[in-house]
Amino acid sequence: MSESTKVTPATKASLDAQSALEAAGTLRWYHWSVVVLSLGLTILAWQYARNQLNDRISLQFEREADQVVELVIERMSKYEDALLASAAFIEANDGQVDMVRWQQFASSIQLDQRYQGINGIGLIASVTQENLAEFVETQRSFTPSFDIHPKRVAQEYWPIHSIVPLLGNEQAFGLDIAHESNRISAAKAARDTGTAQVTAPIVLVQDSMQTPGFLFYEPFYRRTTIDGEPAKVFGGLVYAPFVFQKLLEGVLEKERRHIKIRITDDANLLFDEHLASHEDYDPEPLFFREIPVPVYGRTWEFNICSTKSFRESVDSTQPTTILFVGLLLSFLLTSLFVANSRAARRAFGYAKQMTNDLEKLGLAARVNQIGVWDLDPISGRLQWDDAMFSLYGCRQEDFNGAYEAWCSSLHPEDRNEAEATLQAAIESGSFDCEFRVIHSNGVVRYISAKAVVFFDENGRAIRMLGTNMDITDRKRAASELEETRRMQAAIQDYAGVAIIATDNHGLIKIFNRSAEQMLGYSKEELLEKQTPATFHDQNELVQRATELSDELNRTIAPGFEVVVAKASAGVSEQREWKYVRKDSTVVPVLLTVTALRDEQNRINGYLGIAADISERKIASQEIENANASLARSNEELGQFAYVASHDLQEPLRKVTSFCELLREECSGELTSDGHQYITYIVDSARRMRTLIKDLLEYSRIESAASELTNVDTNEAVRFAIDNLTESIRESGAVITVDTLPIVEAYPSKLAQLFQNLIGNAIKYRGERTPKVHVSGVNQKNHWSFAIEDNGIGILPEHRDQIFGIFKRLHTQSEYRGNGIGLAICKRIVEQLGGQIWVETSESGGSIFRFTLPRTANDSTIIPEMHVKTRAALNDQAGVC
Ligand code: ADP
Repeated sequence: MSESTKVTPATKASLDAQSALEAAGTLRWYHWSVVVLSLGLTILAWQYARNQLNDRISLQFEREADQVVELVIERMSKYEDALLASAAFIEANDGQVDMVRWQQFASSIQLDQRYQGINGIGLIASVTQENLAEFVETQRSFTPSFDIHPKRVAQEYWPIHSIVPLLGNEQAFGLDIAHESNRISAAKAARDTGTAQVTAPIVLVQDSMQTPGFLFYEPFYRRTTIDGEPAKVFGGLVYAPFVFQKLLEGVLEKERRHIKIRITDDANLLFDEHLASHEDYDPEPLFFREIPVPVYGRTWEFNICSTKSFRESVDSTQPTTILFVGLLLSFLLTSLFVANSRAARRAFGYAKQMTNDLEKLGLAARVNQIGVWDLDPISGRLQWDDAMFSLYGCRQEDFNGAYEAWCSSLHPEDRNEAEATLQAAIESGSFDCEFRVIHSNGVVRYISAKAVVFFDENGRAIRMLGTNMDITDRKRAASELEETRRMQAAIQDYAGVAIIATDNHGLIKIFNRSAEQMLGYSKEELLEKQTPATFHDQNELVQRATELSDELNRTIAPGFEVVVAKASAGVSEQREWKYVRKDSTVVPVLLTVTALRDEQNRINGYLGIAADISERKIASQEIENANASLARSNEELGQFAYVASHDLQEPLRKVTSFCELLREECSGELTSDGHQYITYIVDSARRMRTLIKDLLEYSRIESAASELTNVDTNEAVRFAIDNLTESIRESGAVITVDTLPIVEAYPSKLAQLFQNLIGNAIKYRGERTPKVHVSGVNQKNHWSFAIEDNGIGILPEHRDQIFGIFKRLHTQSEYRGNGIGLAICKRIVEQLGGQIWVETSESGGSIFRFTLPRTANDSTIIPEMHVKTRAALNDQAGVC
């Protein structure tokens, strides 16, 4: 498992916390259950409150309705009491009550005060046709104006014969109630049932308003005996007329009621408050009730409905409040859950982001080898993360988490300072320190430690949280950089050349010690103030400005621009200048100017390196002088050699000539020894001449050097062989030649070189017939030629000396010669830039090898145009 995927306990705890946060961010079934339950309870409570309210106001309505009905019934029963009392009074008087006594009785019961609504109280008699006249007469005896009305003829009459108060009831007095069915039917019902009865609604004669009224009857009886038995016979009716409106007055106190009533008797309207004109009328009442009430033989229909004030008096806000509060609570609960879930999701998002950030931070910490530590300054407990252990090179199990353990890991030289800094940080609040630690394996590493200190409210340090970073590489790099910088500074200062750097505009930025020494100015005098033009020779600047203006085809000012014009154009210019010292003396310098460029390759300054060439100038002048003197002396020498050889040859020629004359003219006089001596003299003189010629040749090799040209080596070898024809023929030598290249050389000298070497190969032969092979091969940057023979060979110890002048390994008697040939070969090869040496051949003979440098033009192919022909070689022949 890789480090990144390894699940540590800390990672697991973090994952668990993440899962918990993620779970908290999701609304679960139980959240919704609580919301639904809350809504359900709200609706139940609302329903319950509504029902309760309905029940309560219904009860209130019922109570009010019942109260009204009861009041009406009570009022009626009170009236009945009055009637009963009246009937009892009459029965007590055996039915004989005159008008006066009736009035006395009526006033005794305080009719108008105690029985409001009764218009009066009267007596009705039941009179047949037969005894009508007697009845009228009796009544007239009490009240002379008594008369029965309306006039009619009937079997029976039910006239009202007493009524008090009479005032206001005048029309009723004498009224025959039998003339009208409602009145008579109720009267008869009272007679027949012996109970109080009321009529159907009628318009009372007393009621000028013509509103519904009724008569309330109570029968009374007279005691009598029938067949000797005491019995009661119907004596008449006590009656009371009522105007319904008045009856209800006092019963209904409108201001206290919250109901409106309508009372009907069959289809007859007795009382009606269900009118839109009534101010408290509610067209859509909350409650409505119909109560049929049996009232003394009649049934009154009570239609009761609630009023507007009832509706207003009902506190209907409670269920609504409960519903509202419940819904509000449910909404708040849902909002709380949603907010909680959102907060959890946000928290999860933040946590995720923080986790990512922490992962990045952790990664950055790992990449940068940053360790995190946590110190409790009070207990001295120290916690390290994993990176700290690798930074301190110790194992986790070896670290006891104590502050002292950290101290002991520090380099002894750094320990005190690091501890002191840490202690100071506990006061100051921040810690920034660098120190070395020693790993358990002895490796020393540099650590940069930083920390912040946390304080409690009393200002006491309670925690230090910090980081450690391995800065060993940085330290080393910095140290190397410093070393390099010091070295650069030293190089700059002691380079022996003046190093002067400027910005774009020529202001001097670097002026090294050598420059100070060279020019006599101090760095401080010139830095940021002057341009290098300050110490240039002004005449030289003006002259060079003119040259450059012509060359670059633009005007170059005779100042700093002159010095950097070429460098600005991308050319690093090296040129001799004259610098004028502070003391006005002049120093010649070789100045190299280079443009300095930034990352975008734009010129941001110039670097000038000036070397003092005073000594070089003097030395070169001296060399020039020496060369001139050498050339002169060489020339003189050459002239001397020529003159000397010419002058020397002349006496030799004379010696030879006179010896020949002597041998011819005195041959008879000469002894054989004399002839022998003359031969010796001539021979010596000839060898002397050869020696002088060779010496002259040797001395002229340098001076006689013509122009280098392409030479066909094949031709040079053939030319040499031609010159050696005699000795080849004489020795029977076999000479083989490979195809040879074209080389750059002096044609005659190349031929002389081959002739000397091939000649020696033939001369220094042994018993065998000489075999000579000439070859030339290409070896990278030079040609390698070989002249191999099967001659007597050369011992290794003689191989170097034979190239010296006059160096010979043999006597004249063995091999004739003067020891100059190889010396000439060496000079020719070296003059052409090559080398010559000798080796032993496989056959025991010698291989003379020499090299010639290759040039761009040389080749094994022979371009006719550039090759010196045999004629050319002949022309320059000078072979020894
Ligand atoms: P010289 O031939 O006139 O003596 P050189 O300078 O040509 O002078 O040679 C120097 C000496 O080198 C010779 O005396 C000889 O001893 C030796 N030498 C030169 N060439 C050969 C050769 N091919 N084989 C053996 N010895 C040689």
